[in-house]
Amino acid sequence: LEPDYQFMIRARLPGGVLTPAQWLAFDAIAREHANGTLRITTRQTFQLHGVIKTELKPTMAAIHAALMDTLAACGDVNRNVVASANPVESAAHAEAHAWAVRLSEHLMPATRAYHEIWLDGEKVDSTQETEPLYGETYLPRKFKIGLAVPPDNDIDVFAQDLGLIAIVEDGALTGFNVAVGGGMGATHGHADTYPQLADVIGFVTPDQLLDAAWHTVAIQRDFGDRTNRKHARFKYTLDDRGLDWFKAELESRLGFALQPARPYAFTHNGDRYGWTEGADGRWHLTLQIESGRVADRGEARLMTGLRAIAEVHDGDLRMTCNQNVIVAGVAPERRAAIDALVAEHGLDGYRRGSAIRRHAVACVALPTCAMAMAESERYLPELLPKIEALLDRHGLLDEPILLRLSGCPNGCSRPYLGEIALVGRALGRYDLRLGADFAGQRLNAVHRENVDESVILDALDALFARFADERMDREHFGDFLVRSGVVEPPPRRIPLAQI
Ligand code: SF4
Repeated sequence: LEPDYQFMIRARLPGGVLTPAQWLAFDAIAREHANGTLRITTRQTFQLHGVIKTELKPTMAAIHAALMDTLAACGDVNRNVVASANPVESAAHAEAHAWAVRLSEHLMPATRAYHEIWLDGEKVDSTQETEPLYGETYLPRKFKIGLAVPPDNDIDVFAQDLGLIAIVEDGALTGFNVAVGGGMGATHGHADTYPQLADVIGFVTPDQLLDAAWHTVAIQRDFGDRTNRKHARFKYTLDDRGLDWFKAELESRLGFALQPARPYAFTHNGDRYGWTEGADGRWHLTLQIESGRVADRGEARLMTGLRAIAEVHDGDLRMTCNQNVIVAGVAPERRAAIDALVAEHGLDGYRRGSAIRRHAVACVALPTCAMAMAESERYLPELLPKIEALLDRHGLLDEPILLRLSGCPNGCSRPYLGEIALVGRALGRYDLRLGADFAGQRLNAVHRENVDESVILDALDALFARFADERMDREHFGDFLVRSGVVEPPPRRIPLAQI
């Protein structure tokens, strides 16, 4: 006999796209093998929580049977590749999404051990297997790749180890600007660990993309720090050796020089809710899923509602990096049927909520994340009405503000890119960070360290009052805080303890 050990399982779903049949498969798996809910992550995929050890193998088999896998969704490998979540807005969006899939497959471990262990596949002779990219020791740490299509930076491209910015010229995707060295993770009290934004170092054409990504990962494999896991992410390799060194090493391995980066402009972060029409005349409905938790709670029967939609939908379903869902590819004449299901199951919360609620992202944290120091997902529903009451008092309920909550400094909710962010220190205590921009291009800074809710709310109340009185036309809250000197704009590269 042993205790009922519980596990989390995370799927690999590049770009977060799945068919209605695959959605229904996950829905059934969650109810049969996990805790009856689905969790959409900030890397555009599903996590299943509460999978008992004896259920692991049937769960993996069920995922495989639905033509999906969990290969390399965790571990020291290239993780789920994320991409701008509205890929049907234009032909270029669709192409960018296809590249996310190709990148994910190109950088997957070659081992058949996954099939042997989880799917009763043929026994692997490890002495005969080779891993062309990962070698015998894989990477020093995880590696994250994301593709963004300006003007939307809905994936936070500068938070990626390798960020790719789609360049669309005359309606065609001509290639990608390459940004390297982003990463959110840090550790409290370790000044040599810090969040960092990626730097743009050049441009590659689509036919150069797979090689550029492969060699970028290989350079990190060869030069990343294998002696200290807290210093093992790609951002530290670049800080230790310099961007010029990296670019020269990459170009030497590629056998060609990167082109100069091309112009781009991000204006927006977060998701655009409601219906939008794609270039092909089909429609796409973005629904808010608070904290990405697909569950039936009160009148919001998200699990049942999305199951009902998947049962009648003939397009696809897309998860976003802000933990929401897009019902994509709906024919005009089928919109009314989808709308009816949305209303019936209380999936229309995005129509009623405040702007800050629509832009809130929270990591899982307690009770299922072993790293958590404080509540996050479970705290958000408690915190939001209190912040909304303050915003209402100052006439700011319709003001879009990026709010990010994290239960620890690992930063799964990308908290260092929140205009307002709470990073957990201990139960009920957080660092209040302020002053990121609205397009994911500036990190925030600590405003109050290790404080409780009353201090956080008092601080926000005073700042909302000033913002309402002193803001410039269309100025975002984060920009106001920096312009007015409430927080210092952090330099692009600086240890966490100093900002
Ligand atoms: Fe990630 Fe930390 Fe939140 Fe856990 S508590 S989900 S490790 S940010």
